Amino acid sequence: MRDLDMADCINETCPWSGEPVQADSLTEYDGCVVGFCNPGCRDKFESAVRHFEAAKVTRAAPGFQPAPKGRAPGRDESRSYTKDLPL
Ligand SMILES: [Zn+2]
Repeated sequence: MRDLDMADCINETCPWSGEPVQADSLTEYDGCVVGFCNPGCRDKFESAVRHFEAAKVTRAAPGFQPAPKGRAPGRDESRSYTKDLPL
């Protein structure tokens, strides 16, 4: 595991709770050491960063098409919804 030092931590309080940063709850973000009030808060942040990093990789991949907005063209869903209802 990386050796992170409180002296390098750029923030003083946990972004989740506002509580003071603890030495056992540091991680790295964008080349900086950032801190949290407990390892649970840090892990929540790390999983968020991993989520975004994965999304970035997916988006950067060749052939990636963004999901189309709204309904697929050529399909009238309001009509198909009522089609089978008895009149
Ligand atoms: Zn916290």
